[in-house]
Amino acid sequence: MADILYTYKNQVYANITNQCNCRCTFCIRSHEDGVGDAETLWHKKDPTLEEIKAAMDAFDFTGYDELVYCGYGEPTCALDILLASAKYAKEKYGVKIRINTNGLGNLQHGRDIVPELAPVVDALSISLNAPDAEKYNAVTRPRFEGAFEAMLSFAQEAHKVIPSVRLSIVDVLPEDQIEACKKLTADLGVPLKIRKFA
Ligand code: SF4
Repeated sequence: MADILYTYKNQVYANITNQCNCRCTFCIRSHEDGVGDAETLWHKKDPTLEEIKAAMDAFDFTGYDELVYCGYGEPTCALDILLASAKYAKEKYGVKIRINTNGLGNLQHGRDIVPELAPVVDALSISLNAPDAEKYNAVTRPRFEGAFEAMLSFAQEAHKVIPSVRLSIVDVLPEDQIEACKKLTADLGVPLKIRKFA
């Protein structure tokens, strides 16, 4: 079985699904099998809730105050298992929950999932990737029409009820796009995180 929990740069991550509704041109999945101490993040079959709980029970959370859902797939594609396992980790191990997401969960499930996330999620990092729909579609190649607008709306709604919500871009974007992202996120009222390209 692939690694369910793995560590990288003093963070612990949960890799709960290989499903995704985007095909990002930069996705690490296309050129590496693992990250950090994980040998492979490709599941032969996505793990069950019981398998994820067992991986949590086998992990020593000492020194970790946050569990980050982020792996070789989009965590909200496995929403039920994401919510149940996050609740388990929070209650049993006292960790805060962060999800790194593409923000397309509402489109994936055909409903507003923010009220379901709010009781268990402390932080969301949502991939903005680009300042407009055309550039966004070119780089993320989403399965859905209207993905860019839906992602922004998800971020705004989540920002109202989840303690820390940030839209994120990487610092390799051209300067004019970074400036446009700053303006867009300021207009939306959602903080922007500019990540260093690792
Ligand atoms: S959303 Fe994430 S997992 Fe999915 S293709 Fe893009 S970078 Fe890869």
